[in-house]
Parts: sequence; structure tokens; C-alpha cells
Amino acid sequence: MSLLAALPTGEERDKLLASVISGDRLAGVAWQEQAAQLEPEESLATRATCVGSNYRIDGQKRWCSPGTGSDGWLVSAASGADATIWWVPASSDGLVIEKEHRVDGSSCARLSMTNVQVPASFRLATGEEALAALRRANDTTRVAQAAELLGVARAAFEMTLEYLKTRVQFGKPIGANQSLQHRMVDAYIRIELAAACLRESIAEADAVPDRLRSVASRAKARCLNTALHVTRLAVQLHGAVGFTDEYDLGLFLKRSLQHASWLGSEAAMLSRFHEESLPLPSQHALIGDHPEDVVAPPDRDWARMSESSFRRMVRSFLRRNYPEHLRHPTHRLRWHECKEWYLTLSREGWLAPAWPHEHGGMGLPGDKLLAYMEEMEDYGAARLPDQGVVNLGPVLIRFGTAEQQHEYLPRILSGEHIWCQGYSEPNAGSDLASLRTEAILDGDAFVVNGQKIWTTLAQDATHIFALVRTDKSGKKQEGISFLLVDLKSPGVSVRPIRNIAGDEEFCEVFFDNVRVPYRNLVGELHGGWKIAKSLLGFERLFVGSPKTAQYAMSLLRQVAETRRLFDDKAFLARYAQLEIDVADLKALYGEFAEMVKRGSEIPASISILKIWASETYTAITRFIFESCEEEGGSLKMPDCSIDTVNAIPPLINAMITTVYAGSNEIQRNILSKAVLHLPG
Ligand SMILES: Cc1cc2nc3c(=O)[nH]c(=O)nc-3n(C[C@H](O)[C@H](O)[C@H](O)COP(=O)(O)OP(=O)(O)OC[C@H]3O[C@@H](n4cnc5c(N)ncnc54)[C@H](O)[C@@H]3O)c2cc1C
Repeated sequence: MSLLAALPTGEERDKLLASVISGDRLAGVAWQEQAAQLEPEESLATRATCVGSNYRIDGQKRWCSPGTGSDGWLVSAASGADATIWWVPASSDGLVIEKEHRVDGSSCARLSMTNVQVPASFRLATGEEALAALRRANDTTRVAQAAELLGVARAAFEMTLEYLKTRVQFGKPIGANQSLQHRMVDAYIRIELAAACLRESIAEADAVPDRLRSVASRAKARCLNTALHVTRLAVQLHGAVGFTDEYDLGLFLKRSLQHASWLGSEAAMLSRFHEESLPLPSQHALIGDHPEDVVAPPDRDWARMSESSFRRMVRSFLRRNYPEHLRHPTHRLRWHECKEWYLTLSREGWLAPAWPHEHGGMGLPGDKLLAYMEEMEDYGAARLPDQGVVNLGPVLIRFGTAEQQHEYLPRILSGEHIWCQGYSEPNAGSDLASLRTEAILDGDAFVVNGQKIWTTLAQDATHIFALVRTDKSGKKQEGISFLLVDLKSPGVSVRPIRNIAGDEEFCEVFFDNVRVPYRNLVGELHGGWKIAKSLLGFERLFVGSPKTAQYAMSLLRQVAETRRLFDDKAFLARYAQLEIDVADLKALYGEFAEMVKRGSEIPASISILKIWASETYTAITRFIFESCEEEGGSLKMPDCSIDTVNAIPPLINAMITTVYAGSNEIQRNILSKAVLHLPG
């Protein structure tokens, strides 16, 4: 049907199409002649030769669909120098149809044609029109294959999830084992990624029909990889029962194998995608490359601006004000390096994009906030010491007293107070609620004793907001309070810790009988856990942003071009995979970002973004390093040639992303409990 629809309109073609649509006729497609043939023009040995008023067709076709029952075939053949497509009735003399059985129980046909006579009117297309119709039909079929593969993966996954909840071994459901939970979460991530990829591919093919080849390749590669992975995992996690023919899992597995061995393997689809795809431009690169200046509206009514002019405005601002030498810094900037930029943003009233106007923020609605963050990242603007702006400010606005808001918010904006975050302790990392730094009430002050660790840039900070234990009697989450501490208070000491990159980026902070006024308690006494949790949703969207991975891909391209690696097939295969991983991350991110824009609640499944973004980034940086060979191990000076990619900083930076903001293992635990509802 999709081939008939793609053919140019004509009497015979229109009649055929109508009878196929009405169900009166079944038309098969016969174009392929060799294994691994992806395009119709790669092999066209079948010939159509003019004999009087008829044409004779001679040749062989393989893997024709359907295997049985078709009333005739749409056959491609070379006629002179042109490709052509013919309608060949199944009853034609000289046509031999042999049925071939496929792994999933379906069938296809092998067609042998010897002196098959057809009238000239049965020629349905010639030349480029014929080839284009075949290509289009095949790519449409690939998109349909992708959709079916996604369905297959989902069905196998659901069966397995159910099984893990009910099958008991060692006295508990097998789904209570963390190793199985994490494998299921990884399968779930692949499925969600494939779904986002497919949705985006279909939308893109609709919007830009010329992109069908590329989007079909991408969608099939992703969905095939997912289905093969999930169906195999499903058999494994079912044990022996998964291996029985009485169970549907075998069908799902074999259907995936059928699609894997028809119309292109995953590897073939990857390289086809790569041939077609241009370097991934950022969604708004066109705006950013030659922006005309757009200034902020005097009334700062951002909601009235269109998203594109808002983005242009942010870009113009960055071009005018952001120090060029600080773009895409290779380390976390210290205060003395970024103070000027902080103060520039502060003067402009742009330091706190999410805070409301009345507290000195920009008061951006969800869509503009996202655009602001994306533009900053795209431009390579450095992350500032932003704990005050990003974390504490929103906490004070929501939970703080009027006095606290009055005292602290303006000083965050002016840069007078620089805050750091004191949550983690030597024995409270992932299990943060087991923290022990103690705050005991003594008159009008708390007396704080204990130690915080991994406190980012505490040596540059003036204040710390800390989670402290104020009650040991009940559940550990219920005895925690949120306290504001001036780092100049007697009894506080800060010791920087050098990280593996050689930078002093985080610190230990010790509290030795530090007196903290009671008025520095935020929210209720023992109510700190609720405050800490309130910050999580939005943070997970930002740590799941594709920008870092996209930037790393641009570094990888730079390395590949300098070292001429695009000529190397092994390099290309891995490169194309990463390119697809980033494209699909972007699609998935876009869907969560839409929720933020609409003001919907962010679901727990957002953890998949953090996992995929950080692990994709990690894989790219590893590849950059490997691709640099000996150069990769050289420590480059900051002033070295900009043509030379410094491979170490991104590699090390990527390691952090899988640990902080809730390690990836903890994110997998969250997904397995809160989303997949696997037993504890
Ligand atoms: C660069 C950087 C900056 C940081 N900045 C700050 C900061 O400013 N303020 C702050 O308070 N903290 C900060 N942190 C600390 C960060 O929040 C913690 O590192 C993180 O919560 C993990 O805790 P941990 O390091 O103690 O690891 P652990 O919790 O000891 O974990 C060790 C390993 O075990 C795994 N693991 C632990 N529990 C489980 C489980 N139940 N199931 C499966 N696997 C598990 C973890 O995933 C990890 O791989 C920072 C960390 C880094 C790396």
C-alpha cells in the first residue's frame, strides 16, 4: 500500500490502489535482489524488455512480502537505462513463487521470472519517480517496523515486570533483588527513549518529508536495539519458563529477530543515519549565529515576548557581556574568576531568573526559564557559585520568614553573601537522612557540632545552609532541621580537598560548638527534610539537559576532523551510535521540558533523563579521550591552541555527573520503586 501510494498517479496505478484499499486485491512488493540491499538502485538485475506491444520481464527477487496470497506483485526492473516499476499479476505465465519461512512464523516469497509478459500499460513508474517511490515505501515500512518493535519491547517488558513481582525465590519476589531491578530500569529507560525517538521521528518526517530516510534509519536503529535487548532480557529474567514455546516471550523475541534481518540491521541503520545527519545544530542555532540585538522590554513583561525573541535577547546579552575567555571553562570557576560576571548579571537584574519580581528576580514563566538556562548552556556560560540563587533563594521564598527573606535575599543578589550547601557527611551520602551533625538548642541559639563534606567551593563562600540533626528519637527523616550558618562564626573551619583533576573544588566543613541564632532556622524545627526534598524536581530536569552532551559531541567532531577519523569505519560506527544517543536524549528532554512549560508536575520518571544524560556524556568523553590517542594524555595549558582538544577535563567532569545530584544507582532505585513498583 505504501508503495502504491508513493507512485505517481495514473490510470492503472489509481485502479490498483482503489482495489487494494477496498480489500479486493492484495498487492505484494518485489524489489530486493541481494542480501543487505538497502536501496533499490544498489542491485537491479531484473530486466524489462520491449517485445512488440508487450514487455517481457526476466529476473529474480528475494524476500518479497507477503509470502502467500497476493494477487500480483509490484516488481522493479531495469528498462534500458531506467528503473521501472511494473504490475505483474500472480497468475502470469513464467512467474514462479516459492514460499520462504521466517523465524517468527511469517513468510516471504522468492520470485523467479522468465519471459513474463505484461502490457506496457502495467508500467506504473519510470526513472527517478520509480526509485523515489521505492525508497519512500521502504522507509515508511522501516518506521512501521520501529513502531512494532517498540510495541514488542513494551509487551515483553510488561510481562517480565509482572513476573518479577509474583515469582518467589529465596522467600521473596525475585523483583526485590537490586540487580534485577536495575536491569529492568535500564530496559525501561531504553523503552522510553525509543518512544521519544519514534514520536519525534514521525513528527519530523511529517514536517519535512525529505528527512524520511534519516528519521526512518534513526527510529529503526533505536527501536530495534531496544526490542532485541528487552526481549532477550525478558527470556533471561523468566528463567526456563521464558524458553518455552508455550509462552509469548518467544514470539516477541522472534518478531524482533525478523525485523532485525529485514530492511536493514541496526548497524546498517546507524551508518545510514550518520550519512544523512548533519552535525546536530542546537534547536535555535539559526537565531544564535547572527542575532540582531534584542533588548529587554522596559516593563520586564517576559510573558509577552515570543520565545524566539526572548532567546535572541539572551544571546545578544551574552555576546555583549560574557567574557569570551570564560566560555566552556574546563574547571569549576572560583569566585575571583567569575565575580565580575556575577555582578554584571546582578546589575542587569538577571541573576535570579526563577525568583519572582518582588524579590528581585526575573520572574520568568516556565518556558522562558528553560530557554534562559538553555541559552546560557549553549553559549558555554560558566556555572556560578549559585547555591544561594538556585537552592537557598527558592527555599527562603517558600519556607522562610519575612525577616529571613529581607536579610538574605538582597545579599545573595548583590554578591555580598555567597552560599554553599552543607548536606553530605562522611557517613551520610546517598543515605542523606542518616546525617549526624547535631544542633542542640541552648537558650536562643543552636549549638552545632559535626562535619560536612564534599561542600562545593566552601572556601569561597561566606555562608552555608546545612541539614542538621535536632532530634534522634523518631524516624531519621523526622529529626532533621534546615539551618543558616555564617561561616565566620567561631568554631567553623573549612578545609579544601583536591579532586582528581587537581582542583580544590570541594571542602570539608567542621563545626565545633558553633552557636547559631534560633532565628536562622528555616521552616519548622525538625522539618528540614521536607525542605530539602522540595528542591529536587527542577534540578533533575537541568542535570538531564542534553547541552553538555551536545557540546562534548562538538569536541568529538573536532577531534575526528583534525585526526581524519571519519575515514575509519570502526570510529564511524561508534560515532553514529553516540550521535543517535544524543538525538534521542534531546527528544526525551524535550518531552519533560514541555511538562515544565505547561506547569505540570514533574513525574518521578524524570530520573531517566539524569541517567541517560550523564551516561551518554560519559561515553562521549571516553571516546574523545581514546580518539586523541597519545595527545589525550597530555595536560594542556589553558592558553594552548584552540585547535587542540583538551581531552582530560571533560572526561573527569563526566565522572562527577553520575555521582552528584543523587547517584545514578540511587536514581535507578527510585525508578524501580516509584515508577516500576518493584517490591522492596
Ligand atoms: C563534585 C561533587 C560536588 C559535590 N558537592 C556537594 C555539595 O556542595 N554539598 C553536599 O552536601 N554534597 C555535595 N556532593 C556530595 C554528593 O551529594 C554525594 O557524593 C552523593 O550524594 C553520593 O554520596 P557519597 O559520595 O557518600 O557516596 P555513597 O553514598 O557512599 O555511595 C558510594 C557508591 O555506592 C552506591 N550506593 C550507595 N547506596 C546505594 C544503594 N542503596 N543502592 C545501590 N547503590 C548504592 C552509590 O551510587 C555510589 O556508587 C558533591 C559530590 C561531588 C562528586
